[in-house]
Amino acid sequence: MQVSPSRSGISIDDVRSAVRGRVIGPDDADYDAARTVMTGGIDRHPIALVRVADAADVAAVIALAREGGLPLAVKSGGHSLPGHSVVDDGLVIDLHDMKALDIDVANRTAWAETGLTAGEYSEAAAEHGLATGFGDTASVGIGGITLGGGIGYLVRKHGLTIDSLLAAEIVTADGEILQVDAERYPDLFWAIRGGGGNFGVATRFQFRLVEMTSFVGGMLLLPATGDTLAGFIAAAEAAPEELSTIANVMPCPPMPFVPEDQHGRLVIMGMMAFAGDVEAGQRALAPFRALADPIADMVQPMPYPGIYGPEPEEEYHPTAIARIMFLDAVDRDVANRIVDALEASDASMRVAQLRVLGGAMARVPNDATAFAHRASRIMVAIAAFYEGPDDRIVREAWVEEVAAALLQGDHGAYVNFLDDEGEERVRAAYPGATWDRLAEIKARYDPTNLFRLNQNIAPARPAAS
Ligand SMILES: Cc1cc2nc3c(=O)[nH]c(=O)nc-3n(C[C@H](O)[C@H](O)[C@H](O)COP(=O)(O)OP(=O)(O)OC[C@H]3O[C@@H](n4cnc5c(N)ncnc54)[C@H](O)[C@@H]3O)c2cc1C
Repeated sequence: MQVSPSRSGISIDDVRSAVRGRVIGPDDADYDAARTVMTGGIDRHPIALVRVADAADVAAVIALAREGGLPLAVKSGGHSLPGHSVVDDGLVIDLHDMKALDIDVANRTAWAETGLTAGEYSEAAAEHGLATGFGDTASVGIGGITLGGGIGYLVRKHGLTIDSLLAAEIVTADGEILQVDAERYPDLFWAIRGGGGNFGVATRFQFRLVEMTSFVGGMLLLPATGDTLAGFIAAAEAAPEELSTIANVMPCPPMPFVPEDQHGRLVIMGMMAFAGDVEAGQRALAPFRALADPIADMVQPMPYPGIYGPEPEEEYHPTAIARIMFLDAVDRDVANRIVDALEASDASMRVAQLRVLGGAMARVPNDATAFAHRASRIMVAIAAFYEGPDDRIVREAWVEEVAAALLQGDHGAYVNFLDDEGEERVRAAYPGATWDRLAEIKARYDPTNLFRLNQNIAPARPAAS
């Protein structure tokens, strides 16, 4: 079939002849499925998505984009909130088919290709009684979550995902394939631990694994009041580090195991994760169970990947507005304000998600990696679903008003939960000297800002012509 060249003069046939992996273009039956990302309302048409087979393929696509002046997106699990992993009239490096995982059980390390999802990696590691912490969702790609930091169910016991990152293979903007770790390219290794996809395409990560033969986890559903929420946060702060929690304050979804009269009422959907001995876990959970009569209590010993729960249907692509922030404290007054704000909204889904941090994450020096929020106490996301552009305006105003009213002394943001919110907010993810150091490293490894479809850090100096 004759394929028309794009404005750059690059045709799909050019792309096909440059790589080993599969190239998906507009004429392929799975083009629409391949260009669909998690976030709803994103309908972009790339020239081609390249299901790269290896680092050499990645370098070839980078060369085509660079020489053709084409926008270049990078897709691992496709869960970027602003949909950065797909682009109009450009190329997508799609890591979907790169799923090799080589687990060294004796040394408790693993080399993982970045097409793997957190769930796929965790299932394979669990077969050896081992784990690496990612986030709260199985289908999130290890590519995006790792490069941004990674805050999940093991954060208090074992730190961020990047705290388990030992090395990476990175393909840079000039097509070099670099093996990066604390000794080789230490500046780049520092930058990719929190700096996102700004510095190159990660094709493989080497992670440290921890033993995970005993784990207690699951959902604890409590009625949401100011008292129960403040009590939940206080209990999470006082809990041993083995326990990481996520408190989702939201209208109760119509789950089959929940009495119908609770559907739609405000609840704390507590996701509880105790990485340790079962009896100690039950002791750590007791203060939460004592806050109120649980509406449902599904917390039990389970294999670690069981905490991820079922994935939504493939057609589930919600449109939502979210703001991320860090709070120093959630006392009764703050908790009341959160509950009142959620009660006052009539969005089909609205949520305040609170994660108590600290523990192992906070013990790593703030400047050891590009994630510079080690001392932040509680991460809070305020979010609302919207239906169409008019509703979006209403929901965005609500989210911003709630977030602004809650703001305390910590003006930081977590890069992996940013939407397209402008440079000031990206800078909030990289406070103080972090931004300047990242911009300097960016100028060395990507002086023309080829990797700009991300939470972008522009190079410190313009590229030499
Ligand atoms: C439902 C949901 C739950 C989430 N839960 C958590 C959570 O609990 N904890 C947490 O920390 N985060 C969480 N996140 C945020 C998540 O970490 C980010 O959205 C992350 O960027 C997704 O990674 P991905 O590979 O799936 O996304 P993609 O859309 O594929 O990638 C996102 C961006 O990351 C960069 N990127 C991805 N892969 C590579 C690569 N191999 N090389 C170079 N750059 C790359 C690119 O810039 C790309 O645009 C969640 C997101 C969603 C949608």
